[in-house]
Amino acid sequence: MPWISYNPKKFILHQKGVPQGAPFFYFTTCYLPFSTCCAMFQRSNTHPFLIAGPCSAETEEQVLQIAHQLAPQGIDLFRAGIWKPRTRPGAFEGIGSKALPWLRRVKEETGLKTTIEVANAHQVYEALKHGVDVLWIGARSTVNPFSVQEIADALQGVDVPVLIKNPVNPDLELWVGAIERIQKAGVQRIGAIHRGFSAYAKSKFRNAPYWEIAVELRRRMPELPIICDNSHICGNREDLLEIAQQALDLNYDGLMTETHTDPDNAWSDARQQITPFVYGEMIQRLIVRRETTDDRSFLENLENVRHKIDEVDLELLNLLARRMRMAEEIGRFKSSNNIAVLQTNRWNEILEKAFVQGRERGLSEGFIEKFLSAVHQESIAKQTHVLHAASQARNNATMDRA
Ligand code: PEP
Ligand code: MN
Repeated sequence: MPWISYNPKKFILHQKGVPQGAPFFYFTTCYLPFSTCCAMFQRSNTHPFLIAGPCSAETEEQVLQIAHQLAPQGIDLFRAGIWKPRTRPGAFEGIGSKALPWLRRVKEETGLKTTIEVANAHQVYEALKHGVDVLWIGARSTVNPFSVQEIADALQGVDVPVLIKNPVNPDLELWVGAIERIQKAGVQRIGAIHRGFSAYAKSKFRNAPYWEIAVELRRRMPELPIICDNSHICGNREDLLEIAQQALDLNYDGLMTETHTDPDNAWSDARQQITPFVYGEMIQRLIVRRETTDDRSFLENLENVRHKIDEVDLELLNLLARRMRMAEEIGRFKSSNNIAVLQTNRWNEILEKAFVQGRERGLSEGFIEKFLSAVHQESIAKQTHVLHAASQARNNATMDRA
């Protein structure tokens, strides 16, 4: 395998922006394996890209024991958090740089590549100095463009692969912005990690998946590998398999799963960690589907059904256009009778009725609510437009008379 290093000249330039006391390892060599853009995190037809390891590095023995138990499971990357972003002060905030030599031992003894979370320039330097193979940006950093830019600046000219977790809040633009900042720093091997989003509403998940956000990311950046962090989505052990399978069914490239030899006594995220043995079982049970096939009859059938779907979609658009014309008609009617656009009771009535009718047709309440809210918003916009145009016309007429 060819090996390349970062460009030391760029580092010298970049040194100017480096804080006092930053290490001089730039002038030593920090070699990283070379592979083509993004291919590193992409799944093969039969094998998703697997990242596993403890939420946090706790002791040298713990890290090595977990790595030795995971290595035979065929994982691609060993994870361990060494700086832990905690919501409240006083909780375990990670071992820090002291754990970096432990990860080097993991590499030497098991051959596994390693990855850690970095949240600022200092942590980037520390990770590179100690030969960490892949960096990841955590959800609490992605949310903050200042942090992401600081990490991006520290990465200028470094050929280290970077994985970018989604921001804590369900904001696709922030996620895309963070990816772009890292790309602009010249990093070529980039992947995204979907770890779910904070939500006010109670749910069985620690972080609501909102799959549609990751699906939209895939539409906008089709080449970008996406990895599902089923541990942080679930927040428990019981649902890990279900979420991992759902991710693979959506053609995700891989999984990141927290594993610990003594999960109940883990120093962080104890409820969601599983032993390497249970992890192995989970991986065995996953059904890895292919994205496509050469089978002619399958392709013909698929094409047929897709054709019918296109026809139904067109019918839906025609119906929606008809509905919007009615909204405009109502707008004109309300305008001439001086009635406000929004009648909350009417909207509640529409929703209630649709929930019942939807249920009878196998459509979920969540879907009905989202769909009808969008339709209702558009109707209101149309009516408002009509009312606005009518009052403008009235004003103009008054002015003309004056
Ligand atoms: C982690 O991976 O341990 C972690 C802190 O994740 P996140 O940034 O997704 O909360
Ligand atoms: Mn964790």
